[in-house]
Amino acid sequence: MRVGVVGGGINGLSTAWALLQAGHEVELFERGELMRATSSASTKLLHGGLRYLEHGELRLVRESLQERNWWLRHVPDLARPLRLVLPVYRSASRSRWKLKAGLWLYDRLAGRQGIGAHGWRSTAELTALAPELRASGLRGGYVFYDGQMDDYCLGLWVAERVRELGGVLREHAEVRRVSERGALETAEESHDFDRVVNVAGPWAERLNAASDIEGGCRMDPVRGSHLLLERPLAVGFLLEAPQDRRPFFALPYQGQTLVGTTEVRQGLDEPIRCSPEERDYLLEAYNHYFRQAVPEEVAETFAGLRPLIRSGPDVNRASREYRIEQRGRLVTVCGGKWTTARRLGQEVARTVGG
Ligand SMILES: Cc1cc2nc3c(=O)[nH]c(=O)nc-3n(C[C@H](O)[C@H](O)[C@H](O)COP(=O)(O)OP(=O)(O)OC[C@H]3O[C@@H](n4cnc5c(N)ncnc54)[C@H](O)[C@@H]3O)c2cc1C
Repeated sequence: MRVGVVGGGINGLSTAWALLQAGHEVELFERGELMRATSSASTKLLHGGLRYLEHGELRLVRESLQERNWWLRHVPDLARPLRLVLPVYRSASRSRWKLKAGLWLYDRLAGRQGIGAHGWRSTAELTALAPELRASGLRGGYVFYDGQMDDYCLGLWVAERVRELGGVLREHAEVRRVSERGALETAEESHDFDRVVNVAGPWAERLNAASDIEGGCRMDPVRGSHLLLERPLAVGFLLEAPQDRRPFFALPYQGQTLVGTTEVRQGLDEPIRCSPEERDYLLEAYNHYFRQAVPEEVAETFAGLRPLIRSGPDVNRASREYRIEQRGRLVTVCGGKWTTARRLGQEVARTVGG
């Protein structure tokens, strides 16, 4: 079949890759450049997401952990295992035993291909391992493992696989309309395909609405911002923001420290950038645990819009699951994490059939 794919983020590229592997012809349309939107503004983790266990999302966590291992095994130049510390302070909102149960389950869900089991470290062991961490009130902590990637370069690696299989990747080609009959319109021309897949991330619902396609999944775009601090870090940390008890990360990344993230609902027409409030929030959270960083140490900020499926009022509890809907010859993809993009693509290829 001839398939037109809309969106050149990791989910669009992975969809194109899976369709080509299934024997289809693929032409992908990206309005800007490949991998320049949400997919290169992530926390750079290939992970199951420990916190999704709290929401009972066992299927998603298991699939993500399997996928984490796939990327680490197949693209070791761009994805590597990362040691993370989960310190336990006297003031923590989650007990040591609750964390232990979560980490135990996390290791079990990773299965035999896990990249290292978690373990408890005393305060002395932890401060030897991570001397930069605030010691007062520290009771010890857990060490566990996840994957870290260069999200932009790893996405371009997938784009290379697409080109190798004969896929056509068109940049600066905005799609104005799609249809249930398999048509797709750009400013210049109209194309007819056997199937069209709308994988436009946070903009998927808007494209369908502009095409007079009613209903389907509703998106809830939620911005997440990060800071890059000009200071190195030896291991990663999963911490609790003192302001609101939300989990956030401080990670070593390309010789700097990556701090994030936030969750702020926003409209699609608002600029996607880290606000002064988010910057202050992240700096304050970081400074609660580490030697004070001053605003001048912020080398860069960046932000992305999560393509979440609309659920309840609490964005912190919104699922990272994806959903695939078919109407006639149009397939629309909503949601999805970076880590699970390959599975999402395979699922779309199954839906398209052959
Ligand atoms: C702050 C933050 C941190 C995250 N951290 C992680 C993490 O650590 N690990 C993880 O697994 N996941 C993470 N995620 C989730 C993950 O980044 C996203 O789920 C994923 O990148 C979404 O990819 P996508 O291809 O669906 O969307 P996008 O990357 O946004 O791609 C959609 C593309 O469609 C294009 N487009 C839109 N409309 C049109 C049109 N009309 N015509 C043509 N092209 C169009 C856009 O230009 C864009 O390039 C994070 C997300 C955020 C926001």
